[in-house]
Amino acid sequence: MMIKFLDLQAINLVHQKEIEDKLLEVFRSGWYLLGNEVKIFEAKLANFIGTSHAIGVANGLDALRLILRAYIENGVMQKGDEIIVPANTYIASILAISDNGLVPVLVEPSPETFNIDVSEIEKKITPKTRGILIVHLYGRAIWSEELQKIAANNGLKIIEDNAQAIGASWNSIKTGNLGDAAAFSFYPGKNLGALGDAGAVTTNDESLADTIRAVANYGSKEKYVNLYQGLNSRLDEIQAAVLSVKIEYIDAENGRRREIAEKYLAGIKNPKLVLPENPSDKNEHVWHLFVIQTTEREKLQKYLLEKGVQTLIHYPIPPHQQAAYSDWNELSFPITEKIHQEVLSLPISPVLTDEEVESVVAALNDF
Ligand SMILES: *Cc1c(COP(=O)(O)O)cnc(C)c1O
Repeated sequence: MMIKFLDLQAINLVHQKEIEDKLLEVFRSGWYLLGNEVKIFEAKLANFIGTSHAIGVANGLDALRLILRAYIENGVMQKGDEIIVPANTYIASILAISDNGLVPVLVEPSPETFNIDVSEIEKKITPKTRGILIVHLYGRAIWSEELQKIAANNGLKIIEDNAQAIGASWNSIKTGNLGDAAAFSFYPGKNLGALGDAGAVTTNDESLADTIRAVANYGSKEKYVNLYQGLNSRLDEIQAAVLSVKIEYIDAENGRRREIAEKYLAGIKNPKLVLPENPSDKNEHVWHLFVIQTTEREKLQKYLLEKGVQTLIHYPIPPHQQAAYSDWNELSFPITEKIHQEVLSLPISPVLTDEEVESVVAALNDF
């Protein structure tokens, strides 16, 4: 018996009846784009996050690209401006910046949170800096008054990459409503997953929301009238309908993830393994990933597989060492590099059973 890292089929079959009814309804309606299902989901998402606007788009990377593109169209940023971004992130956060002709400026993480080390940000600010792109990595909210102050004092926008942390909050404010604008991914494996690609932007900035909506629809607000050299990046009716069903369960499903994380944190006792920090405010973390660290990662991963436990690595190669960013290959980010060499993600999902969690704990303690 194999404990899968993530059983997407089981995760979605929990909602089989509701999802199938919705799929059939959309299929039979004859309306597949820019219709009611997208409007309904956008309203549900804005309400859940607490923002005045939510805009459905094609995927999480586009959500990030569109935020930055709209800031450029609105004259808030221009090509060549610098955006501060964590060196330790999924590469999409960085691709969105360079894709817009903006310059990513990488900052090391704090070893405790894996997230951007806020005390390192100010050193990287120059007259060209226009924004900080924070990433709520692994599902943990990264926010502080210090971060807010740095942004305010330097006139910087804060953009949240909230692809991994839907439902998390800081002082009762949801991620996605902390900064100036936020990007969501509903990639099937995310905590709120569609049946394909999907994404969204949330913001309280009306002018930004209007520009994003237009840029994502061929640069047009009115059919055949084009204000911007836009893209086609729309959320479709089928994905919106599925997400409208699943968003009703996100708090409960994140709650189950939290339960599993607590079981791992209490049960795993092995001096070879470093466990993730558990924030004192439990709402700060929605445990998209449960990431442990060990200097014997390859051995551990192989051992766990023999015991029937599937694990993954998030992520094996840091962005600055990728061929895609060859200009950065000589740069040194020792904390980021160490994290990439030592992290291993354990199975975690709302459908993982207590018995499975116990087997994972036992296997880790035997190692
Ligand atoms: C998944 C992810 C994205 C990209 O989302 P897609 O929907 O796959 O385009 C961006 N940033 C982070 C941190 C992610 O985990």
